[in-house]
This record gives sequence, C-alpha cells and structure tokens, in this order.
Amino acid sequence: MEIVDKTGTCNLDYNRVCKNGFCFDEVKKDFDWYYTGQVNIAHETIDRHANSWRKNKIALYWEGPDNEHEKYTFMELKTLTDKFANVLKMAGVKKGDRVFTYLPRIPELYISAISIAKVGAIFAPLFGGFRAEAVRDRMNDSGAKVVITTPEMKKIGIEEIQSEVPSLEKIILADVPESYKFNDNELSFDAEMTYAPEECNMEWCSLEDPVIMHYTSGTTGKSKGVVHVHNAMIGHYITTKWVQDLRDDDVYWCTADPGWVTGTSYGIFGPWLTGASQVVCSGRFSPDAWYSAIDKYKVTVWYTAPTALRMLMKAGDEVIKNYSLRSLRYITSVGEPLNPEVIRWGMKVYGHPIHENYWMTETGSNMIANFYGLPLKIGSMGKPFPGIEAAVVDDSGKVLPPGVPGNLVIKPGWPSMMRSIWNNPEKYREYFRIPGWYVTGDSAFVDNDGYFWFTGRVDDVIKTSGERVGPFEVESALLEHPAVAEAGVIGKPDPLYGNIIKAFISLKSGYEGSEELKREISGFVKTKLAAHAFPREIEFKAGLPKTRSGKIMRRVLKAQELGQPLGDLATLDDE
Ligand code: ATP
Ligand code: MG
Repeated sequence: MEIVDKTGTCNLDYNRVCKNGFCFDEVKKDFDWYYTGQVNIAHETIDRHANSWRKNKIALYWEGPDNEHEKYTFMELKTLTDKFANVLKMAGVKKGDRVFTYLPRIPELYISAISIAKVGAIFAPLFGGFRAEAVRDRMNDSGAKVVITTPEMKKIGIEEIQSEVPSLEKIILADVPESYKFNDNELSFDAEMTYAPEECNMEWCSLEDPVIMHYTSGTTGKSKGVVHVHNAMIGHYITTKWVQDLRDDDVYWCTADPGWVTGTSYGIFGPWLTGASQVVCSGRFSPDAWYSAIDKYKVTVWYTAPTALRMLMKAGDEVIKNYSLRSLRYITSVGEPLNPEVIRWGMKVYGHPIHENYWMTETGSNMIANFYGLPLKIGSMGKPFPGIEAAVVDDSGKVLPPGVPGNLVIKPGWPSMMRSIWNNPEKYREYFRIPGWYVTGDSAFVDNDGYFWFTGRVDDVIKTSGERVGPFEVESALLEHPAVAEAGVIGKPDPLYGNIIKAFISLKSGYEGSEELKREISGFVKTKLAAHAFPREIEFKAGLPKTRSGKIMRRVLKAQELGQPLGDLATLDDE
C-alpha cells in the first residue's frame, strides 16, 4: 500500500475540534450568531470580516477572460452586497423567494450570492453553459422569481423560454452594453447600484431557513433541486478549514463553477467563512491559463477536479517547466474518483500529493476526506471527517466486513445535510431507504485501517462471471497504461459471462488506436487486476461524454452501446 505521510504539516486542532465528533458544536463558537442569536450566512461570510481586522484584506482576486483583473476587500464586498441586497428588495424579492443567477464567473455572481442571502432569499446558481431548456426546467421546478444574468446569456438561455416560466417577475442584467434596450421587466445591475442606499437591514433567519438551492450534476439521471439551510455554514466552514487546510495567510483557488455545489460550498461560502483570500478565474481552461494564474496570484491552496488534473497530465510535463508553481502548498480534488496514477504524477510535477475528498450536492460539504494529519493512502477517499459517521452496508442495513463493497451510507444529522429536494418529498425519502442511514447511491468498501475506497455508483457496478467489479478500479488500471488518457467502463450484457466489461478509451496524443493496442491494453489490465476484471471489449473514442462539471457519463456510454434512449442530457457537455 502506498502511503504518503503528511502528519504534522497541517493545522487541524484535534483537541479543540475533533474529539469524538464534538467538532460541529465546538466550531459554532467561531460564528457571531452563537453570541448574538442573529443568523445569516451572509453576515458570517462577509460582514463579520468587514467588521474585524480583516476589513482591508483582499477577499476576491478576479481574473477575467481577457487579462482584466479586479480585487475586492471584505469591506468593499460588504458595501456592494448591502447595496445589491437593497436592489433585490426593490425588485420585490422577499424571504424564501428563489433568485437564480445565470452568469459567467464575474464579480456580480459573487456579489449576488451574498446579497440574495442577505435578504433571506434562496440563491439558486445555474451553470452558465446551460441551454434554454435546462434553464427553463430548473426555473419552473423551483418557481424562480428573479434571475440575474447578462444580455448575452439572456439571449442564449432565457429569451426563448421566458414566456414558459410564469413565476419569473424580473430580470436583472449585468454587463450591459450601452446600446441595449431594456424591457419592462428588466433592471440594470449597474444603474440600480448607483442609486441603491448603502445601509441595508440584514434579514435575520433561523438556522433552518433555506438559503441555497443546487441542482445536482445529472450524471445518473435528471437533476434534483437540493435545498440547503443557513446551518450548512458550519459544515462549509469546518471542512474548508480542515479538509482544504485553509489558513489566514493562504491564497485559495477553487476551480469549480458555482453552478455546481463545489463552486458554492468551496468557491464562495467556505473560504470566506474562514476569512481567506480567494481567486476566481473566469476564462476557459487551458494548462497555460491555469498555471499562470497560480503563479500570478501565488496560489497556495488549490481545489480542483480529477477531470482537470487528467487534462493537465495529458498536456504533458513540458508546459509545467514554463511556470514556477512554487507557491502551491496543498492540493485537493473532488467530483470523481482520483486515479492513483494522477496522484503519483502530481507528486512528481507539483511536489505535493493531491488530497482527494468525497461528498455530493446533497451532503453540502466534504464527508470523507484525506484531511489533515491523516496519512494519505493513494487511491482511497480517506476517512470520514471527524463528526461524520459513515459505513458500508448491504441493502438491509447490515454493516459489511472490511474489503466487501456495498452501499456507502452516512448517519443523518450533520449540519450541512440537505433539508429537502424541492417539490419532491418522495425523492427525498428515497435517500433514507435503508433505515437509520442516508444512502449516497455510491458503492465503496472500508479497509482494515478504516479508510474508504470508492468502487463506483451503485448502478454502475458490473456483475461479470458472477463477480462484482467496480468500474473505477478498471478505469484506474487502464490509466496506468502509457497510451491511455481517459477511460470509461461499462457492463455489457453477455450470454456467457452475464456481463462483460467494455472500456471506452481516449488516447494520449501520439498514439494511434489499433487492434494490437486493444489487445495490449486488455492484457495489461488483466495482469493488474483479477483475471475476470479486464475489458473484453475496447473502443477508442476521441473524447468521452461528460457532464458540464466534468464527470464521465457512463450511462450515456451504456445507452449508446445498447441502442437505448439516452435519457436526460441537459447537463451533457456537448463541446
Ligand atoms: P446526479 O446526482 O444528478 O446523478 P452527481 O451525483 O454526479 O449527479 P454531484 O452531487 O455533483 O452530482 O456529485 C456527487 C457524486 O460525485 C458522488 O455521489 C460520487 O459518485 C461522485 N464523487 C464525488 N467525489 C468523489 C470522490 N472523491 N471519489 C469518487 N466519487 C466521487
Ligand atoms: Mg448524485
């Protein structure tokens, strides 16, 4: 077993925070509401720091797509969000209303998030890459009252469906060109801000009032509208501090878009709850753009995703030589399983291991992680964060012995757990189908040391020759072959084996797909895993179908393979 022991390099204060799950209660004392009884996540995220020694600290470094850049202190963000909260009030927004953002990663998105919370409304961020239908479905599902967008994006995603969203009362437009003609139901972000009063009465809420609504990635089917409450701040805060290991002198960069939960919990609220400076880059992904951002802002803590890391790895080590990257201190990853090969590569080129963590939209914050002090086992998701109780159980709820894969479940009651699925209590109840547990829908096993290992989505587990094979272990073995850049593995029905393993592979540049290479790769995996756990069929593809948040959509590969309907493709990245 490969273990990277980083014990002692991080700042988790075990005694104070993590004694026997005592942690969540203990960190409540870091929030103002603990003393005042006045609750609002926006206050704790921005205003608390603006009233403290951090007031002139940079909260946001913003890097635009064409080398524009701006920066904002906590004090400046307090003023801007107070003003915009007043604009929202004037636009008729009331406590509990759903306010959507449909924006690129411009400062207005971050200002909106905080301001929406300030008026007690529900912040519902939509990924900027959605097309009209996906926008319409989500707005209708939740009865959106206001949307904040730009004229450009309005044209792509809102214009044609606007009449089909009867609840939508106002559109607030940012980044408006001078020639733009406003419709009756439209307001200008900038113009309203010029006149808005600076004094704002914060809407004090209860810890259980909803404040964020996130639609899931749609990897396994139709997205669900997951509702989070102000109390989630406890989870955001504690895990940003001790899973992301964020300290006051860090410059932090979470590469996720707030259209996905990582971009909100760890790209807006978490880091600011800890008072850290964060970087937002709104341009497109490219190895050069990303590495120069790290150097330019001297990023110390970097939270990204396996798909990005695989692309950086695919781009080769040459490009890295043009950058220093010396500021990096801690790297974390989420969203999909992180293949061991990528971690080994990361240690080679960045000089640091990549700390994988596991969670989902519904859990609101990191659940299982390679957090501080924990010797990192390469390929494992780590251990449950202190205060989180996780287990692997069979369908009846019986805890399975080490090494046996089954349902990954979590004991309900952690602070950032979703409180409902919007408008869909039935769906919500399904998460609790195994009595006493929250059911993640993922399959994992625990090893003898209590580390959790991801094997796949429960629905993706392949039964072949009477054995259960998780797609992830096959994909990771495939990635160790020098020709393989990305791999997606499915079970394909077969009269002899029940199912055979079929692998879809995109090759690194410089490799040509051939029958011989297929045989070689297949044999390569056979020597790595069990004799039954190798792909009997391989198909080369230029790229694999992915969600817009970068997850491989195995259900699409499978449906294509079997000639079945492709299902809900709203979140498919068609570029
Ligand atoms: P949908 O629920 O709409 O099908 P989704 O499950 O992909 O989409 P998210 O909530 O964005 O939506 O993703 C959570 C899922 O991502 C987890 O259930 C898990 O399958 C996967 N995941 C996240 N982190 C990890 C990780 N470290 N290792 C393995 N899988 C992970
Ligand atoms: Mg899910």
